[in-house]
Amino acid sequence: MSAPNDITRWSAAQIAARVAGREVRAEEVARAHLERISGLDKEVGAFITVLEESSLAQAREVDRRIAAGEAAGRLSGVPVAIKDNMLMEGTETTCGSRILKGYRAPYDATVVGRLKAAGAVIIGKTNLDEFAMGSSTENSSFFPTRNPWALDRVPGGSSGGSAAAVAAGMAALSLGSDTGGSIRQPAALCGIVGLKPTYGLVSRYGLVAFASSLDQIGPFARTTEDAALALSVLAGHDPLDSTSAEVEPRDYLRELEGRKDLKGLRVGVPKEYFIEGMEPDAERSVREGLKTLEELGARTCEVSLPHTRFAVSTYYLIAPAEASSNLARFDGVRYGSSEARQDREANLLSVYERTRGEGFGPEVKRRIMLGTYALSSGYYDAYYGKAQRVRTLIRQDFDEAFQSVDILASPTSPSAAFRLGEKSGDPMQMYLSDIFTIPCNLAGNAGISIPCGLTSAGLPVGLQLLAPTFEEGRLFQVSRVFERARPFPVLDAR
Ligand code: GLN
Repeated sequence: MSAPNDITRWSAAQIAARVAGREVRAEEVARAHLERISGLDKEVGAFITVLEESSLAQAREVDRRIAAGEAAGRLSGVPVAIKDNMLMEGTETTCGSRILKGYRAPYDATVVGRLKAAGAVIIGKTNLDEFAMGSSTENSSFFPTRNPWALDRVPGGSSGGSAAAVAAGMAALSLGSDTGGSIRQPAALCGIVGLKPTYGLVSRYGLVAFASSLDQIGPFARTTEDAALALSVLAGHDPLDSTSAEVEPRDYLRELEGRKDLKGLRVGVPKEYFIEGMEPDAERSVREGLKTLEELGARTCEVSLPHTRFAVSTYYLIAPAEASSNLARFDGVRYGSSEARQDREANLLSVYERTRGEGFGPEVKRRIMLGTYALSSGYYDAYYGKAQRVRTLIRQDFDEAFQSVDILASPTSPSAAFRLGEKSGDPMQMYLSDIFTIPCNLAGNAGISIPCGLTSAGLPVGLQLLAPTFEEGRLFQVSRVFERARPFPVLDAR
């Protein structure tokens, strides 16, 4: 379906340079991606909304500005897909939930505003597990997304639509949100780069909150350079997000070339991140990735993050507790609608009950119940309070490890893409998909997943690199050197 010189295989950096250099019009780039979507997305199901008209209008505006000699933005004409839990003025934002069907966003999320200001073209809104709760995108109220590498398999989740869109060339870049792994795990399963920035680096104004102390927005890309370019546009203080960090803006793209090899880099390999029950093929690929780091000059050593074994249970107290509070607003009055409001017999309580009963799917209800229980008086300290204390221990494990190493390297996920339906009946199995990604959300530091090979069945495997807070530049440098030595596999068969 696509030739290697097809516009939909160009990187974001190439598109921006060619549009700015007037070698190609942004409108042509947008049309190529829209065509790719219409040819492919019936099978993949990456998009909930395709923004055909508005993306072409944005593209024409970029072309007009460039023709008029105005300064070209850093993402001029780059088609970007946005996870459907981020607001874009005037477009539907569903969070993959029936409860928000038909809800139109009244304003742009800060990240959407920053992308538009840089000349990006928003091509569509992507599918996700309902309210970002899940690891396979099967919890979407509408339809599951399929992995473009193997259509009988999941793309990971919860940002599965955004990952699949970039992997399949339906967008050059996309945004996801990562609360416990929802950028890194789907990036791994779809064979692309996915970055979870440090908590506070990217504004969450206009992101529908899941678990506020964990949520971060970050980019998906097919190259390290594109991920660094995207973060340079996205990162920065935002007074509209009270958790936004006041750090100096950095040009990650410029920093990228700071390393030619990995000499002197100290890489810690956490022994708790290689567990029994891991898919042997995935483990082999990650071990080969580690060997490549060594061949490039890095010194690897085993480190211990002793509280890792408590991470999943800690997360499944904190995240549902915060979700149960954040999701209280979907009551059929302020947000969320249902036919209950039309019912003449209805009273306030019955509107709440019917809206939420009909609007939320089973996983969201499970989380609300778990969270409400964990926060209820008499249990608060035993559950939520204790989880917060363990969270501190997990953060201290990282602080300790980063005293003696520059980065940590591990598998992103215990397995490559699994089949649709394989884990959806067993929430515990699904929760365990995030065993290697969750600790970084609890600690708040930076993490990336980069492609490190394929299993014998031809499915992508991700290598996770973790750095101290605000050291995204270090992750990009390592990723870039690695990518040069072991070019990322490209999906071009379809
Ligand atoms: N899979 C995890 C969950 O279900 C993480 C989701 C996320 O990062 N949004 O909560």
